[in-house]
Amino acid sequence: MSLNLRRKRAAAAVQAMEIDALLVTHLPDVRWLCGFTGSSAALVVVNHPKGVRARLFTDGRYTAQAKAEALGTRVTITVKPALIAVCEWMAETGIGRCAFDSTQTTVAALEAIRKAVAGAVKGKSRRGMFVAVGPIVAKLREVKDEDEIARMRAAAALGCDLFERILTFMQPGMAETAVAAELEHAARLAGAQRMSFDTIVTSGVRSALPHGHATAAKLPRRGFCTLDFGVVVEGYCSDMTRTVHFGRALPGEREVYDAVLEAQLAGVAAVREGVATSDVDEAARSLLRKAKLDKWFTHSTGHGVGLEIHEGPRLAKKPEAAGNAPAETLKAGMIVTIEPGVYMPGKFGVRIEDTVLVTRTGCEILTPSTKAWIEL
Ligand code: ZN
Ligand code: ZN
Repeated sequence: MSLNLRRKRAAAAVQAMEIDALLVTHLPDVRWLCGFTGSSAALVVVNHPKGVRARLFTDGRYTAQAKAEALGTRVTITVKPALIAVCEWMAETGIGRCAFDSTQTTVAALEAIRKAVAGAVKGKSRRGMFVAVGPIVAKLREVKDEDEIARMRAAAALGCDLFERILTFMQPGMAETAVAAELEHAARLAGAQRMSFDTIVTSGVRSALPHGHATAAKLPRRGFCTLDFGVVVEGYCSDMTRTVHFGRALPGEREVYDAVLEAQLAGVAAVREGVATSDVDEAARSLLRKAKLDKWFTHSTGHGVGLEIHEGPRLAKKPEAAGNAPAETLKAGMIVTIEPGVYMPGKFGVRIEDTVLVTRTGCEILTPSTKAWIEL
């Protein structure tokens, strides 16, 4: 999908609310709409009578980069903060109503917006110019286009390669941080722009920490080690988790691993266009319930991935407060993770995570590394 088409979709979404423009300040949204990857920017997408127009505001550090990246978008280089400059420009240009994403706007930013507009149109009242709306662009970003899917495939494939390689490196007695360092070093050498998040390496009793980062703790002679990591390729994140075992399993460990694996497979099997996200969660959770392990499964089953490591949709239990509200459903082109886990404090934990592409008939697993029991 061209950037132009993305902007048209965003513009159409606000036009349906009888709003003339959309202010975008969340950087992944800015990038998705205009291609600009700099660290300071504000973008406005305007429903102009002659078509959809976009204008990017950034500072002097990004003059050349903005010109090269933000094709089809007017660029204004400003010495003022980009947010202030864009608001002043809109007030002066006479934009009627402008939507902003309330989930990405701080109270302080909103104050600054109001002040900037009041300063630009002295005397004239522009009350009601800014309209808080939901995450319009983030919602559009949930369904990936072909170009995005290709990048996500490349990132996921690199993740799988790295997993294979790290298995030959890991040894009992090695620090968790050494494993993380080796993995991240290999990732950069293979072309990753950066890691999607701080690499998780949790071994032995620490494997019971769902999001424990790598520490100086040593890999055990006998026990689990969970690796959860991702790489960024051309802006897009990969995400996968595998849990491996050093030495022979202690009583109960294999049973928990098999139960988590079954739950993960059931979650993957439930993925298809039109299925409620909460039903995917239930498919995985119900198997852990059957194995009497669900009380140790303390997080949701998965999340969307893309330019950001955590995006919509969320694959979680249906909130009780939702009542009969329609459930969010999967759409073909969404890329989500399926990552059930069991964490027994003081003992051990197991998590298995794949990233999958939702299709009309099911899903394609983008992280096909083996999930069979691995004994190192
Ligand atoms: Zn992960
Ligand atoms: Zn994840």
